[in-house]
Amino acid sequence: MRRPLVAGNWKMNGTRASVAELIEALRQQDIPEVVEVVVFPTTLHLVQVVSGLEDEAIAVGAQDCAVDAGFGALTGEESASQLADAGSNWVLVGHSERRLILGESDEVVSKKFAAALACGMRPVLCLGETLEQRQAGQTLEVVERQLACILADSGVSAFERAVVAYEPVWAIGTGLTATPQQAQEVHSAIREQLSREDQRIAQGVRLLYGGSVKAENAAELFGMPDIDGGLIGGASLKANDFGAICRVA
Ligand code: 13P
Repeated sequence: MRRPLVAGNWKMNGTRASVAELIEALRQQDIPEVVEVVVFPTTLHLVQVVSGLEDEAIAVGAQDCAVDAGFGALTGEESASQLADAGSNWVLVGHSERRLILGESDEVVSKKFAAALACGMRPVLCLGETLEQRQAGQTLEVVERQLACILADSGVSAFERAVVAYEPVWAIGTGLTATPQQAQEVHSAIREQLSREDQRIAQGVRLLYGGSVKAENAAELFGMPDIDGGLIGGASLKANDFGAICRVA
């Protein structure tokens, strides 16, 4: 059986003071042992969160990493080696905000994915279609292309460690959630694409749903056969809401 995973993407939020409060509030949450939990603060707050959650069963990850795994002349970036050294076990790659606002291509995402793996971190590959692509009936094709690029470069064995997060762009921060059926359709297509390469790996990989997940809609989404947890944005900034989502996973 796949262990449920709930991830909180804090995005570009928080100050040292508000992050300290959030850490404290997360420590008060009653989270079932069966659920794996990871939070993604900004890189600026990574060390603070790693030390604040040191004795908790909550892992910490980075929201992005550089395309190069090592060290060198790349002003303003942090490499997967540095993030791992700072205590990050996970890294998000290919979030739609980076793809769409910062112009990250599938090729760049794929290099970041490989860099994260090379440094012993677990990448969460984010993918998903825009509203226009959904309306044009291209959802499955878009998601398949985004995943194919990673498979071509890193191979299916990468998904022994990596996780996939399906996040329809039109559902992110909009209050619009994909219906459990819409999400399940895409999740099952992702698993099918992986199983064409390796059935065992496809059955083991966790597929998360992200996009306006709240305590009220989480149970129904997580109840679908191919949805193994969630990548939570807004609701992960409130410890009580995030805890409630973890408890239904
Ligand atoms: P929201 O939960 O705020 O819609 O954000 C989802 C997301 O982008 C998580 O990575």
